[in-house]
Amino acid sequence: MERTRLRDGFTLTFMLVTLEVLMEKRPFDIGLALERIEEAVRPWPKAALFQLAEEGYTSTFEQLLACIISIRTYDEVTLPVSRTLFARARLPAEVAQLSWEELDGLISPSTFHERKAHQILAIAQQVDAQFGATLPGDRDVLLSFAGVGPKCANLVLGVACGTPVISVDVHVHRVTGRWGYIKASTPEKALSALEAKLPEQYWIDINRLLVPFGKHICTGNRPRCSTCPVLEMCKQVGVTAHR
Ligand code: SF4
Repeated sequence: MERTRLRDGFTLTFMLVTLEVLMEKRPFDIGLALERIEEAVRPWPKAALFQLAEEGYTSTFEQLLACIISIRTYDEVTLPVSRTLFARARLPAEVAQLSWEELDGLISPSTFHERKAHQILAIAQQVDAQFGATLPGDRDVLLSFAGVGPKCANLVLGVACGTPVISVDVHVHRVTGRWGYIKASTPEKALSALEAKLPEQYWIDINRLLVPFGKHICTGNRPRCSTCPVLEMCKQVGVTAHR
């Protein structure tokens, strides 16, 4: 009887210690985390704008048009739609000469294509008249166009121009919050928090890496924590159920 009690007490203590060790998190190392995530997302498609840049669509103008097409639209749609448009017209003067009907038809699989066709046409005409063939990588110029917000402008500046800027989308916001790396209630606040904390060398890459990571591993519902490469340092903030 006494021996059983001793053994049960020992087993319980052993289990608690094991649990504690398992729950102990190492301090968050952003460099190491992104290195591991780079490896983990290798099998999955790249985020649309990065993929298009790899295919040679690297100009500020092309990236801007692709970004507008991508708004509220899946990457699986953005990619073929952008390729179709660029096969027909790539330069500002070429796009400016399209009729609204033709442009709308070219981008029609994209969400809100009618409004986007008006925006793209207006941008192409303005760029052609003001800058000719080359749209400069200037944040204020990009933000002056109707339909272009800070997220789009930053993404374009990062991908097309290599300007160190952070683009915070739903994935970047959710994942960095779950890590416990930042605490922000909106993507706008997340941007300020990341600008204050994230080393500049990762500003462009954070979007490139966390978009596929957020789509396939740290998913909105039931993230795949059990096989996640950063589990040992992630605080799993707000995660109540996972795989
Ligand atoms: S451990 Fe879970 S919550 Fe944390 S990054 Fe990985 S998948 Fe996301």
